[in-house]
Amino acid sequence: MVEKKHTAAFTCTHCGNKAPMLIVAEYSHIKNHDDEESGMSWEAGPYWEVLECLSCNSVLFRKGYWHDLLTDECGPEYEILYPNGPQVIRGLPQQISKSYEAAQRVKTIDSNAFAVLLGRVLDLVCIDKNAVGDDLFQRLEDIAKKGIMPQQLADMAHALRHLRNIGAHANLGELTPAEVPILEGLSKAILEYVYSAPALVQLVQSKIDALKAKKP
Ligand SMILES: [Zn+2]
Repeated sequence: MVEKKHTAAFTCTHCGNKAPMLIVAEYSHIKNHDDEESGMSWEAGPYWEVLECLSCNSVLFRKGYWHDLLTDECGPEYEILYPNGPQVIRGLPQQISKSYEAAQRVKTIDSNAFAVLLGRVLDLVCIDKNAVGDDLFQRLEDIAKKGIMPQQLADMAHALRHLRNIGAHANLGELTPAEVPILEGLSKAILEYVYSAPALVQLVQSKIDALKAKKP
């Protein structure tokens, strides 16, 4: 039987679990180098590994650089090529950013939990924008009325709210990994409109002001 190879423990960029991972494929450009003058020879070069996280069964791809003389017993530093970590949305208030990251961590594990946690992000957006109303539906409508997001985007938020309800209540059905890109797209569109776009406008304005101030 071929013995299975594992990595040292590190944090999975899909699920956030820290544990050794299974090495399912390797490709190496490590080559032998001879230095005639010193009579020394060593092996060095980059190599790539396809890994499987044993917690979420997702696949990762990473690159390392090996050098016989320079790499210590802890092994080389690795660059994760896939996935490149959770997408960061610019301009999010701290609490919303924390909740969005928490949602991202369950994305590949449980589509229903992902929808529920994104619903929590929507709740926080409503609190942050002082929306009024008895439930999330009314609060989203209030945000649209105040012009914080256009009606079209509020409709998207309602779609997300609807999916959140399915995720939260087993009697309404169940979400599958097929719904994850929809949930992802809806939440990203809302957060970017409400937070990233104003943050970007502010950044551009401050650069323009700085340029103007420099002019004689
Ligand atoms: Zn994982």
